[in-house]
This record gives sequence, structure tokens and C-alpha cells, in this order.
Amino acid sequence: MSFDHQKIEEKWAKKWRESGVYKVDLKKAKKKFYNLMMFPYPSAEGLHVGNMYAFTGADLYGRFKAMQGNEVFEPIGLDGFGIHSENYAIKIGKHPAEQAKISEKRYYGQLERIGNRFNWDNRLETYDPEYYKWTQWLFIQMFKQGLAYRKKSLVNWCPSCKTVLADEQVEGGVCERCKQETEKKETYQWFFKITDYADRLLNNIEKIDWPKKIKIAQRNWIGKSKGLSIDFKVEGVKKPITVWTKFWETVFGTTYLVLAPEHWAVKELSFNVPLSNRRKFMEKIQEALIKTEQQRLKGAGDKDGFFTGSYAINPVNNKKVPIWIADYVLKDVGTGAVMGVPAHDERDFAFVKKYKKLDIIQVVSYQDKKIDKKVKDQEIAFEGEGKLVNSGEFDGMDAWGEGKEKMAKWMIDKNMAKWETTYHLRDWCISRQRYWGPPIPMMECEKCGWVPEKEENLPVKLPMVKDYKPTGDGKSPLEKASKDWLETKCSKCGGKARRETDVSDTFLDSAWYFLRYPSVKNEKQVFDKELTKKWLPVDAYIGGAEHAVLHLMYSRFVTMALKDWGYLDFEEPFPFLYGHGLIIKDGAKMSKSRGNVVIPDEYIDKYGVDALRMYLMFIGPYDHGGDFKDTGMIGMKKFLERVWRLVEKPGKVKNEKQLRKLQHKTVKIVTKAMEKLRYNVGIARLMEYVNGLQEMGADKEALESLMLMLAPVAPYVAEEIWSKLGGKFSVHQQAWPKYDEVLAKGEKVTVVVQVNGKLRGRLEVGRDEAEDKEKMVAVAKKDERVGKFVKGKKVVKEVFVKGRLVNLVVK
Ligand SMILES: [Zn+2]
Ligand SMILES: [Zn+2]
Repeated sequence: MSFDHQKIEEKWAKKWRESGVYKVDLKKAKKKFYNLMMFPYPSAEGLHVGNMYAFTGADLYGRFKAMQGNEVFEPIGLDGFGIHSENYAIKIGKHPAEQAKISEKRYYGQLERIGNRFNWDNRLETYDPEYYKWTQWLFIQMFKQGLAYRKKSLVNWCPSCKTVLADEQVEGGVCERCKQETEKKETYQWFFKITDYADRLLNNIEKIDWPKKIKIAQRNWIGKSKGLSIDFKVEGVKKPITVWTKFWETVFGTTYLVLAPEHWAVKELSFNVPLSNRRKFMEKIQEALIKTEQQRLKGAGDKDGFFTGSYAINPVNNKKVPIWIADYVLKDVGTGAVMGVPAHDERDFAFVKKYKKLDIIQVVSYQDKKIDKKVKDQEIAFEGEGKLVNSGEFDGMDAWGEGKEKMAKWMIDKNMAKWETTYHLRDWCISRQRYWGPPIPMMECEKCGWVPEKEENLPVKLPMVKDYKPTGDGKSPLEKASKDWLETKCSKCGGKARRETDVSDTFLDSAWYFLRYPSVKNEKQVFDKELTKKWLPVDAYIGGAEHAVLHLMYSRFVTMALKDWGYLDFEEPFPFLYGHGLIIKDGAKMSKSRGNVVIPDEYIDKYGVDALRMYLMFIGPYDHGGDFKDTGMIGMKKFLERVWRLVEKPGKVKNEKQLRKLQHKTVKIVTKAMEKLRYNVGIARLMEYVNGLQEMGADKEALESLMLMLAPVAPYVAEEIWSKLGGKFSVHQQAWPKYDEVLAKGEKVTVVVQVNGKLRGRLEVGRDEAEDKEKMVAVAKKDERVGKFVKGKKVVKEVFVKGRLVNLVVK
């Protein structure tokens, strides 16, 4: 007594396709729900179970929302342009355009098998000219609005990918795509002025429903920080050297300045170096310049520096301080100039100890006598709180309180310094010297300079070039395109012009795709006005969001800009974001190099999609992920077989009242679990339900409710059994079961309350309540018997054991 999963899958997949159960009339829909999973890019291995995990969890939510009466739009497409796909094509020696077709077919084929309710009619691929024509349109709008500009600057260069990268794509000095160390290179690049939106990107974080971790990552990336810019005059140099610091209260302890080798003043200072030494001086600078950022930061313990021979004047006390150059100071950090305060900064202290030529002046004294003595004796640097000393009129004040405040006011009043807010966020370097991307739709005219292509001429098609490999000379492979493509007429004056040969960053392709999904069939407009108004913003965005800081930042920026230009009437594209966990295998993230990538196909063949979906959703809380085991599906397949047998032989109902109670209680708990995407909890309850039904016997109502709750996670088996029970096609178009509060009230359980580990009370509460930490802690605090022991004290810790115990630790 079992079922043939393959037969069932084929049968229902066909029926769903033909009857269009998952189709949604975008124009007519009344209660819309835009359910979106993060844009997949076909990896070398095709779809692996990690991807399937992401999509299945998102699909469960969409199916649940549909059964709750929403018209759900769940589109899918491919992010197929970009270095990732291109590197793979190069590796296997295929032209990226050719490989894209192969990957597309394979990927869509796999996606069709995983049982999701995708709206296939609205799919899009980023390398489709019908799509990238609008990516180029977006670039042109940025240019027209003054948000795209071309500038010579020092940018990240990946010697392995042979292209520049945005700051965001370099993590700890390493290329995010290929994990090679990056270098710095000075070239002309196109940038988007995302920094204009820094404050809005930051302030809006308050308004969106996102996981805390991801909000923090966004805030950190923007990195807003308020400090003082202090001017140090230098003899023989017109402009003062400006230092930016958050720790100005130690400015009296400055004993030297240190500049990045790239700092603008370095050249002028070199004239102060005696001729005999100048050559050596220039050589040292060159040495520092060719080091990678990572090498420079690595050297933090053993910093390389040298004296310039020049002095600056500390404005607060007119003391002469020597100017040094050191490679640990990065040009992009702050102003590229740092005040050295060795008594109160460990990095500066190590530098001074190495060269032994610089003074150490203590300007904060500490209450802890041992520490204070060590600072005085120049044995350590200390960065803690204390009282100001050696700081003129500020002596005796709290360094981090009054002293800091008054000193700032004084320096500003005397024109030595001014407030300045800095950001970690930089403008988005958008050009890539690669082949596989949308050509940047700009041209350079001999007369007019840089002008955009006319919008009616879009797309600027990516030409087929035979030699598509990156060259590494700083130029795009499109330099080898035919003259017909390279040479064009200026869109402004009609004169001779030459096309830009860089392509745009793949992050631009994925920064707006969700805005296009509803409008993919509109060839004339980027956004169908009516559909956009109706369907956007996205209702639920589900993905592995921890690694998507950049994608989310860029998407938010593009959406805000489009709103400002009047194309959209909202500025946050994803008001609700859910971050799922990661599926690992043998304790590590799946990757080809580790050889632990699991392809779902063989498991689908062997156990069926439903068993695999159930297993993945049961593996752990959806926001935690879990460890994939080959044998995991067996239990799920057995469970589905048990359900099958239960329906064939439901047994006689022994006590109908008991049965209804169990049914309503289960519906209540599963509903709540689905609402919070706690799928493992929901599935566990369904298992208990099946146990219960086997014991008590089941009637049609009980079995129907089981099928309805099983439908999101096991769509095929649920559909088959639903039809066996005589249900109307399709189970996926039925309403989610309702529950009666009274019937659903479960049995009471006792939760013990302790204060500082001592028994102080017992609470009789419902079973769900007993599992809710927040609720139980609140109830415990309000309890009369417990209250006595908490009153007037501070609760420093709340220990909670689900369904059993609350322990309040008070002081
Ligand atoms: Zn790289
Ligand atoms: Zn012109």
C-alpha cells in the first residue's frame, strides 16, 4: 500500500500547467500578494539543494498566502549576466552567450521539478536584450539626473578577474567573486552617486521589517560617523593638512602626523627633503604604493614609515610635530592623514616604539593607578575613560564628558576645526572591463564629450566578439568589436563618436529586476503604470540575505532614485524581508571546491519532490538552516506513506469531540507557524496530528484539514489524496482551514517561576503560551507572588526553558 511518486508528479504537473492553477491575472487581481525569492544566478553546478532550500521555503509562504485568499504572484527568472557566469564559461572554454543558453535550459528544467507555484509567463533573463535595454535606460536616467559620472580615481583591481571592482565587492582586500587579493589602480571609471542617498538609506532602515542582523549590516556599510576636521598648518605648504578624528579630546597629546603615501601633500613635502635624500624618499613612496591594501593593513603590527623632514603645527598648543609617511594609513580612510597620539592609541604606540624617535605625551589620567602608572612610564597605550591632563585649560575635566564637549566648542570657535560627518559608503563604481554585461550606453564625441545614446536606439546590443576574454590591460574586450559597432554618430551633434566599451556591473542588473517582473510584457514602457501601482512594492522578499548587503543597498538606492524621478510612488522596494539560513553538508557550506554540492535531481527521482521539500523544511528553523544528510528523505517518504495508508484505512472514530479538539488545536498551531515561516514547527505538528488520527480514527473532515495543511509543503501528494477524498480540483485553490478558538484551547501546563534560582511561583497556562518566552516572562513579572521578589530590583537576565521554566535573575 504505497504510491508511485513519479506518476503523481507527472500527472499533476501536467494538470496544473494545463488548467493554469497558479496563473494570476495581474490586471484584474483584487487581493494581491507579490511573493519574491532572491534572484538566482545559474551556478556552474546548476541548481543545488541549497538553492532549492531557499526556493521551497519561499514557495511555502506563497502557497499559504494563496490559500488565505490572496492572489499570489511568484515570478522567477535568471541573473545570467556577469563575472560569475562569464568566469565559468571561460573556464570550460565556451562562449558566454552559448553557455548561457545551456545553463538557462538546465536551470529552468530543474526549477520545473521542485514543485513551486512559479508564474512562468513573467520570467526574465538579464542577458535578454529586451531586459537590458531597460538596464541601459536606467543608466541613461542616472546620467541625465547627474547621478552618473566618469572620473579618474584609484579603484580596486582584481588581477585574476582582470577588471575593476566596487568597494562593496572587495571583502578584506579579497575579490568577492574569485577570492584573489585585489590591487589599487588609477583609471577612468563610471560611478553612480549613491552617496547622495546615504542619509535616506540610513534613516529608512527604521521603517522596514527586516531581520536585525541585516539592518545592522546595512547601517555599518553606510557607516555614518560624526567627528572633527582639525587643520594643521605646514611651513612652505599653502593648504593646511586636515585630520579627521572622533577622538579630538586627545589632540594635546599629538606628537606627530602621519600621511598615506597617496596623500596630496606628499609631493609638496618632497621638495623639503634634501636633494641627497630625495631619490630614496621617492623610492620609499613607490614601494608603499604598489602594496595591496591587504598587505598594507597586514603590516599593522610592523608598520613601515619614514620621516619627511617637515613639521606641522598643532593648532591647540602651537607645538611643532614631525610629519611622517606610513603605509598603514589608507588614503580612502578619513582624510588620509592621521594625528599620532601614542599615549592613547595602540596602533600609534606600536609605531612610536618601532622608530624610537617620537615623543609620547599622556593627556588622560586614569583612576586605576596601575594603568595610569604604566601609561606614565610609557609602557602601554590606554584608550579608556579618565580625566584630562597636559591639556591647557581643559585639565581636570572628564575626557569623554565635559572635556570633550568644551574642547570641541573651543576649537570650532577659534577656527581650528569644524564638524564633519563621514560615511563608509562610497560612490558605486559601475564600469567593468569585461565582456558579459550590458554595454554602457554612452559615447564620446570629439566635440560634445560624453553623451548618452538616444533612448529610442536602445538597446545598444552586446556585439558578438570572438575574443571575449578579459585582457588585463585595463580595457574591455569590446575594444576588439568591429568598427561598425565602435564607431557611431554622436546622438547630440551627429558628428563622429566612439562607443564606451566597458559594460555595467552585474549588480545593476539585479538592482531593479523585481520592478520589471509585472511589466515584462510591456515592450514600450519600462514599468507598466497600472501594474506597477498595483503590484509593487514586493510583499515578501525571501532569501539568504546575510550575503546580500550590496544587492539590497543597490536595490534600495535605485528604487529611491526612480521614485524621485516620478516612476514609482514608494521608495522602499522590500518592506518585509525574511532571511533564511544556510544548508550545509558535512559541516561546511556547499561548494564545488569542497566537493560537497548536492544536486536535488537524484533525490527527487528516488523519493519524490514532496519528501525532499518536507525534509528540507524540517531540517531546522528556516532562519537557521541545517545539515543535509542523504538519508534524511527516507523518514519523510515513510511519513507520506503513513498518510496514504491512513486515508485508505482511516479507522473508526472513537470520540468525535476529542477528534475535533485535536483538529482545531493542530490548525491553530500550524497556522501560526506558517505565518512566522517556522515550517519545522508546523511539520512537527502535522506528524503529531497523523499519530493522533491513527490512534483515534479519522473522519473526512479531519483528513481534509490534514490535506489542506500539507498542501504547501507536499503539493503533489496533497493534491492526489485530496482528489481521492472527492475534493474539488485543486487543493491549492482551497481556503486555508479555520479553527475554533474554544476547541483549539489546548490542555494547561505548569510553568515554574524562579527568582535567582529559587522557586517563587507556578503558572497554569495554555501550551502555546508556555512556549512563548516574551509572554511568559511578562506574565511571570506580573504574578503577585513573584512580584514581591522582583520589585525595586533590576532584572539582569531572563532564563527560559520552553514550556517549563522562567528564571529571573535580579540584582
Ligand atoms: Zn576576482
Ligand atoms: Zn557631438
